[in-house]
Amino acid sequence: MDMITLNNGVTLPAVGFGVFQTPPEETRAAVRTALDAGYRHIDTAAAYGNEREVGEAIAASGLDRDEVFVETKVWISDFGYDATRHAFDKSAGKLGVDQIDLFILHQALPSRFDLTLEAYRALESLLAEQKVRAIGVSNFMPDHLERLLGESEVVPAVNQIEVHPYFRQPGLLAFDTEHGILNQAWSPIGGITFYRDGEHRSTLEDPVITELAERHGRTPAQVMLRWHLQQGRQVIPKSVTPSRIVENLAVTDFTLSPEELGAIDALDTGRRGGPEPEAVTLENFGREIPEA
Ligand code: NAP
Repeated sequence: MDMITLNNGVTLPAVGFGVFQTPPEETRAAVRTALDAGYRHIDTAAAYGNEREVGEAIAASGLDRDEVFVETKVWISDFGYDATRHAFDKSAGKLGVDQIDLFILHQALPSRFDLTLEAYRALESLLAEQKVRAIGVSNFMPDHLERLLGESEVVPAVNQIEVHPYFRQPGLLAFDTEHGILNQAWSPIGGITFYRDGEHRSTLEDPVITELAERHGRTPAQVMLRWHLQQGRQVIPKSVTPSRIVENLAVTDFTLSPEELGAIDALDTGRRGGPEPEAVTLENFGREIPEA
């Protein structure tokens, strides 16, 4: 498995496993299948409601704790210094771990950036106490990052953002890279283009991608994952389907040419599938995260 080194020296696999929208009752089996297939990084979130089942699957796998890289996210309702420190206790308790490998803010709260900064300060304190091995953010735009960098000590290790062939965010990708922040691509195969109604068709059916898949004897999902990896992004594809879980890990033994990478880049529509980061407020998106 190819590994990526974060800006604080901590390493994680280039291909991780996502569990957004995986129902709790399916999560144990999906994570167990992923671990058996060779995944060693699981990405969950307090807001996904399945941290407990992720933890149970890891515990049941027989793998040592330090063999699996566990990432989870603090929801906006738990932003604030004390609340975010308590969010760690809730997540670690559900996951059944003492230490979380990567703990990130799920969103910025642009209308309450004071709370966002306090939440990040809590992450810095958890890092100093070695309760987490790395900290980061998700869905932060360059202006959010500028403010965060100006008012905090630790540069985020990652920014987990929507990136797939139909929404590439090149300016944000470049900003992150310039500042030593790893781009973690969510919806890496464009899941959000086919599980949410919108203007997009499915990236899996895009003729440029299907043609590249045929040319390389791969699947459309594998071509998209390979595109991310060759451009230096980490990926966290989600699936509950055993054959797809295995398929999404088999992406290291072929290479796309610069022209082929460029052809995928050119599919960018500039239209995001996820929520507009500026529109995320406590009023619209707040919800209680249960205790462990
Ligand atoms: P994704 O991984 O791009 O796509 C997932 C969808 O693709 C599911 O419907 C899955 O179906 C299907 N699929 C998976 N592998 C496939 C394959 N080889 N061929 C055909 N279809 C395939 O999208 P995502 O779940 O939105 O994103 C991945 C992860 O990113 C999430 O699970 C989560 O960890 C993270 N994420 C983070 C944020 C954030 O705000 N930070 C937002 C969204 C997602 P089946 O499961 O039915 O197989």
